[in-house]
Amino acid sequence: MAPRRPPDILRKSHAHSEGKTRARDKRALEEDLAESIDAATAGRRPGRRRIADALLIDLDGVVYRGDERIDGAAEAIARLDSLELPRLFVTNTTSRPRAALVERLAGFGIEVPADDILAPADVAADWLKSRRRRKLLLLVPEATTRVFTGFEKLSPAAAVKGAAVDAVVVGDLGRHWTFDLLNTAFRCLMREPKPALVALGMTRYWHAPDGLRLDTAPFVAALAQATGAEPVVLGKPAPAFFAAALKRLGAKAGRAAMVGDDIRADIAGAQAAGLKGILVRTGKFRPVDLELGIEPDLVIDSIVDLPGILSRRVSS
Ligand SMILES: [Mg+2]
Repeated sequence: MAPRRPPDILRKSHAHSEGKTRARDKRALEEDLAESIDAATAGRRPGRRRIADALLIDLDGVVYRGDERIDGAAEAIARLDSLELPRLFVTNTTSRPRAALVERLAGFGIEVPADDILAPADVAADWLKSRRRRKLLLLVPEATTRVFTGFEKLSPAAAVKGAAVDAVVVGDLGRHWTFDLLNTAFRCLMREPKPALVALGMTRYWHAPDGLRLDTAPFVAALAQATGAEPVVLGKPAPAFFAAALKRLGAKAGRAAMVGDDIRADIAGAQAAGLKGILVRTGKFRPVDLELGIEPDLVIDSIVDLPGILSRRVSS
């Protein structure tokens, strides 16, 4: 193949050179081209690609805060939907079944079907079914027990009396926690064969209307500490939960982002699962969260800012 005419930058040395120099020029040309391609690609990426092509969106603290609306959230969700990004609401909430979350969202002007929401209890029920763990001690809010249809639900009294237990499932029981209940779970977990300790998320605390309130993680940690059991976490920040969410969306972790107000469960959890983490400064966010050594890929004041950022990245 005939050698191509060297570009201007190389012509001077080419003009009075032969052999070795020509070979060096060819190498330089190739390097130059590779560099230009790199530069062009690097320059193109931020402009043409969005930060994510699929979104997982936390509910409490992002779309609403307890019983309060977050200003502009409903409009922001509508604008996100107009961008036609696949999205799934993912929540560690165990105090309400999905039907109640659908109603709550509708009350804030956000109409979504139940299938648009993924909660740990749904993933836990699938996990327990697939492992044929049928006899459950459910330490979850009343509403969440409905998710576990087709299982044998043992009362704490029956568990104390020695009924066989395949799994102890822990959710956010809030004010219903008592020492006796925690101790019943402890005794079950000390038996052989050992039941599984299943955690519906590992959220440490949440922002209740009257202030911060303990969530699921501290109680799971107490049981794990006392028994040496390794909890199976089926909510944020467990990679298995993010994987279940991505599977629902048919999205790849590398092109998906999690939007949340919990620096650990939402941001660190998502990043560990290979997603980007977008932190909102609403809900439980505290400025000190940014000093924990976890670096969100993006920090925004509220979900209201997100549609603008995503559409800019598409059109610029
Ligand atoms: Mg939250």
